[in-house]
Amino acid sequence: MSQREEFEKKLPIVGQRLQSSMVQVGNWPCCLNCDYWGARAKLDGKHRPEGAVGCGRANLAIPPPDVIVVGCEDWDPELPF
Ligand code: SF4
Repeated sequence: MSQREEFEKKLPIVGQRLQSSMVQVGNWPCCLNCDYWGARAKLDGKHRPEGAVGCGRANLAIPPPDVIVVGCEDWDPELPF
């Protein structure tokens, strides 16, 4: 396998790691690092339900996959952890 082929084979893995790091530090806006994810605290003052997932702005409904990946205009960067 040539060096170029090896590089092209590893490129998606490098991209996934980069994206994962950006999500964790909040540089990639998405549902998973949005303060509304799994939370109701901002809407009704109640505690975050144990193990809750989904969008707190939509009564914890699960957004479509493309929204989960890139977030929406209500994305809130205040990390809950
Ligand atoms: S749909 Fe929007 S507001 Fe809801 S969790 Fe995702 S980014 Fe946040």
